Amino acid sequence: MKHKFISKRYWDEAATPMGDAVELAYKYDDIINLSLGDPDLITDSRIISEAFKDAEKGHTRYTDSLGYPELREEIALFYKNEFGYELNINEIMAVVGACHGMHLVLEAILDDGDEVIVPEPFFTPYANQIKLSRGKLISLETYEQEGFQINMERLRSLITEKTKAIIINTPNNPTGACLSKEVLEQLAEVAIQNDLIVISDDVYGAFSFDEPFIPITTIKGMRERTITIGSFSKDYAMTGWRIGYVLAPEYLIDCIRNINEGVCFSAPSVSQRAAIHAMRLRKELQPGLVAEYKKRVFYAYERINNIPGISVLPPQGSFYLFVNIKKTGMTSAEFCRKLLDEAHVLAVPGNGFGSCGEGYIRIACTVGVEKLGLAFDRIGFMLRTLNL
Ligand code: PMP
Repeated sequence: MKHKFISKRYWDEAATPMGDAVELAYKYDDIINLSLGDPDLITDSRIISEAFKDAEKGHTRYTDSLGYPELREEIALFYKNEFGYELNINEIMAVVGACHGMHLVLEAILDDGDEVIVPEPFFTPYANQIKLSRGKLISLETYEQEGFQINMERLRSLITEKTKAIIINTPNNPTGACLSKEVLEQLAEVAIQNDLIVISDDVYGAFSFDEPFIPITTIKGMRERTITIGSFSKDYAMTGWRIGYVLAPEYLIDCIRNINEGVCFSAPSVSQRAAIHAMRLRKELQPGLVAEYKKRVFYAYERINNIPGISVLPPQGSFYLFVNIKKTGMTSAEFCRKLLDEAHVLAVPGNGFGSCGEGYIRIACTVGVEKLGLAFDRIGFMLRTLNL
């Protein structure tokens, strides 16, 4: 909005499809909301009660600005046990969710006009986050016919003197694609050859259905040039606790910590305690959670591909499906508007994730199979008249 009290930098700021979805969710009483990636599942009661007990014991104050050493030790142990990857706790910082982590990271690494290559379609906030840090987003298109994988030739052709970093996000929001080990290795080679940083948004690490998830930081030669962003939001159904972490070489963590002193100093103590318990209870809690999403996603995949006119690739990871709607002849926005008004189902237009997302809609499997079933009944009914 244009107003003398608002910084001119924000005068042209338009509402994002995500922001719109928050409001549209209240339009009808019987809406099935498949828009935002905030699932219906709540945090396991064991995590809640342990965190609550810790709060009563006095964990209610600022913590070390990097986070409780106990949490960072738990994160280090996780990487050692899961990936055989050794971390020093000074290479780990607790942050207020992955979004906060990304903001601090971009602030720390970007000089004015530095370019950041981002595979598109991408998680919408990256664009503003890069802009806020005075960087320039360079879009690397990925396509359904290539399984939304990163094409190395296309990537190489975008690298310039100004390229500082590449952001990767696997398992991916919004496409559900996972970067294969071969692609990660090729990507590592390009990053090393061109002396680039890779910022790896690993927030859906637990949701890799086909192949085991591999953090790119664990690939040879990548440790010194990878900044990993992790989160408890999805892997432990803890979106509202606002807790995540950044892994990076110690000098970068020091810089990020200094920037964060003027932002929020430390992540919330109670949420850090909850994260410690989440990690300790991981083996008991996570398999059920992941199995539930996998069930939903594969159910949705079957149903979508049985509706004439729309289609989707087999799911690989995360809990999103990027549904091809091109045969309907509608734009993503037209389709989502019709879906909302006629079927009372809320989804996000694919072009909200970058222009190459046009012709797609994103469905988040954030409700159970029964409700998903109802949503697909309604979508099938809505499309029947198009005779596709
Ligand atoms: N990255 C991606 C790809 C996401 O989908 C999300 C949440 N939807 C985030 C980051 C932000 O996660 P957090 O809740 O930890 O800020």
